[in-house]
Amino acid sequence: MKKILVTGALGQIGSELVTKLRETYGKENVIGTDIRKKDDHNEVDGPFEIVDVTDYDRLFEVCKTYHVDTLMHLAALLSAKAEAIPKKAWELNMGGLVNALEVARELNLQFFTPSSIGAFGPNTPKDETPQDTIQRPTTMYGINKVAGELLCDYYYSRFGVDTRGVRFPGLISYVTPPGGGTTDYSVEIYYEAVKNKSYTSYIAEGTYMDMMYMPDALNAIIQLMEADVSKLEHRNAFNITSISVEPADFEKAIQKYIPTFKLSYDVDPVRQKIADSWPNRIDCSTARKEWDFKAEYDLDKMTKDMLEKLEAKLAIEG
Ligand code: NAD
Repeated sequence: MKKILVTGALGQIGSELVTKLRETYGKENVIGTDIRKKDDHNEVDGPFEIVDVTDYDRLFEVCKTYHVDTLMHLAALLSAKAEAIPKKAWELNMGGLVNALEVARELNLQFFTPSSIGAFGPNTPKDETPQDTIQRPTTMYGINKVAGELLCDYYYSRFGVDTRGVRFPGLISYVTPPGGGTTDYSVEIYYEAVKNKSYTSYIAEGTYMDMMYMPDALNAIIQLMEADVSKLEHRNAFNITSISVEPADFEKAIQKYIPTFKLSYDVDPVRQKIADSWPNRIDCSTARKEWDFKAEYDLDKMTKDMLEKLEAKLAIEG
């Protein structure tokens, strides 16, 4: 990875990934792209271009102009939003991905795109979900992710494109709000804890899902992209996670730092149904074995950091 282009760069992951990549590989060597421009965009932050990933010619032209050798494709519609507009989700999630893979094939680029725990379904084993297992998701997002995993494997085996990817769990972060996924409550709960000392969860008590703190997710991306290819038996869709949690676990973790914090429930049936179809805890031994995946943050370490960072951020924003 010497010159990297990121699609969907203003999203929850992209906004922090671009910063981290610029620190690691140099500001001029990381080109952020998105369908929109940030209101406070500043040219000195580094190169940025408007790119709609459903426009193949534009994506190709920008990758070629900047002589990139790596494409990180993040632009997508997330699980809850995709359920509301499934046809649009198909067009963006599949249309964008196939365009990005075609550009990678044409220009011989290394390629990264994330799949998700949403690629599993109700008849997938729920605990210690294996790397290779039944995948019959019941959401449009999940269907897109399974097809995407297969497509990335196909571009490697058929055309030799160096595709790599992970199945991310719900990601928790404080820089950019999440974009409409089922696990968004795990971010909202921290914002509300700092602002109001209370939160009403749309996910029911006792619903376990995998989560991970953003710094671990960013490290995982870079580690996998830099991994010794001879050790990779899998390439795409590595299971990775750090914690399996339900809403009451967050309540207890937050109360250690904000004792008056209160959690209540008002379950949203649409997002609850999606959550119920996902695993409780996935097994990431394959990622550990093939590229030494490791997460640094447990629930307590993450909670302490999230609350500190959010208190500082919200104090500035007023
Ligand atoms: P996000 O919704 O926060 O950001 C997506 C970005 O894509 C936005 O900035 C949006 O403006 C941009 N975009 C939308 N349409 C576009 C288009 N046509 N062309 C170019 N850009 C467009 O998403 P995220 O959370 O950063 O997720 C990135 C990837 O990671 C997605 O593939 C997602 O499925 C995957 N993922 C995310 C999580 C998570 O918890 N955030 C978990 C699992 C997998």
